[in-house]
Amino acid sequence: MSRKIWNWRCLGGCGKMKLKTRPKSGLCPNCGEYCAPAVVASKSQAAALARKSWKTVSCSSAVEATQKLGLTASAPKEEFIADLRKITRARNDVAVAGHLIAHRHIFGRSGFCNGDFKSRSKLRIALRRGPSSPFFPRPSLRTSPEVMGKLVEAELELRAGRRCMKSLSLVSQRLVFQHPVLGVKVNVEIDGDADGLPVELKTVATLGKIPRKIFGMMMQLAGQAISKGVDSGVLIIAERDGELLTAVCVSGLTNFHRKHVEKWAAEASQEGAVA
Ligand SMILES: [Zn+2]
Repeated sequence: MSRKIWNWRCLGGCGKMKLKTRPKSGLCPNCGEYCAPAVVASKSQAAALARKSWKTVSCSSAVEATQKLGLTASAPKEEFIADLRKITRARNDVAVAGHLIAHRHIFGRSGFCNGDFKSRSKLRIALRRGPSSPFFPRPSLRTSPEVMGKLVEAELELRAGRRCMKSLSLVSQRLVFQHPVLGVKVNVEIDGDADGLPVELKTVATLGKIPRKIFGMMMQLAGQAISKGVDSGVLIIAERDGELLTAVCVSGLTNFHRKHVEKWAAEASQEGAVA
């Protein structure tokens, strides 16, 4: 613990940074833009996350909720499930905690991101957004669902990188794609890959909470599939409060995404949001 690393995020082009000294007056030492510190897991949180194990289950409510959206849902193949079992196993080196950080969101960035296509209201806001200055919202508490979700994701990423995986990797990837309906460039971040298909990692309080959130998750996964030029993807959902983890393979994502965005864009254009 002698050499402290400062995890900050810059509003300018520097992005997420690991610094040896604390930025002065909250300004980026590289470009002078504002930057903000990441939330770092407490010692007890870090120990609990290292020791946390999940049970890989099939979740019929997630499959049914996906099928209700007109998508094809199936269980992942055995090789993938074997990989999931590897990352759900706890680890003993509880002192390793440098990966357990949650960077601050950035709001008001110009251009489109995949999250803008999660719902009709999000897309409407994105379509109306003019040139704006990015800003950090107020920091979230260490124990908030948002931060806990990021810490769980970081923990699973670490394990996936260390253990011998056959099909699944959890190395994040940033892509830009041209939106098939709107023609605009969309920035997308993908959590991982399974044999060329995008993998999205989500956390929920408990698996019972999935059906309400499945639509937005599928719109995001669809944007990721489109950016990779495929029509399928895998959604992994881990409980934050419980010990269950599930995964669903989904196909038919391109049409699903197009259909909704076409409808929303037509509605927005009637309201005058699009020129
Ligand atoms: Zn910077």
